[in-house]
Amino acid sequence: MHHFQCRCGVVRGEVDCRGTHNRIICYCTDCQAFGRFLGPSAAVLDGQGGTEIVQVAQSKLHFTQGQDQLLALRLSETGMIRWYAGCCKTAIGNTMPSPGGAFIGLIHCCLDRSQVTADFGSKIALLETETALGSPKPLAHGLFGVISRFFWLMLTERVSGRYRQSPFFEPTGLPIIQPRVLTSEELFELKK
Ligand SMILES: [Zn+2]
Ligand SMILES: [Zn+2]
Repeated sequence: MHHFQCRCGVVRGEVDCRGTHNRIICYCTDCQAFGRFLGPSAAVLDGQGGTEIVQVAQSKLHFTQGQDQLLALRLSETGMIRWYAGCCKTAIGNTMPSPGGAFIGLIHCCLDRSQVTADFGSKIALLETETALGSPKPLAHGLFGVISRFFWLMLTERVSGRYRQSPFFEPTGLPIIQPRVLTSEELFELKK
């Protein structure tokens, strides 16, 4: 089990690290906007605007306390749901807007740094590097493996029905809390 928690310790949980997972650093402008939304103290972004993420099945994760502190954000009406701990603004992870997406991209801020490599391996794919900040840009690699494992995870979770055991969605398929959607002005400010 990999233990995760928010900075203040109110939100805590565990991930079963067996099974399919991906380690990624994503440099896309949406992940950068979410990092900026949480602010510098949340320390989501690295020096080049990258967000380190571990993708796992939502069914592999459960909260041991503080689940009621979760807040959710969408950058637009069509975007992913970005979850964070309301108590201390620690980034938790990103999911698709419906439970069928099956995965959550857990953001490094809530993970146990000392155990990430032991639990999820040392291979890290670099994605969306063309929007990385500064130069030289990091070289993108690992996309094919990430996509293959991503589809395998989604397929096995769907066929087994395990995707319904998500702590982020009600049995009705709605998120456990209504995400706040940024206005286009708010998003513009975060992306400039
Ligand atoms: Zn907290
Ligand atoms: Zn991204």
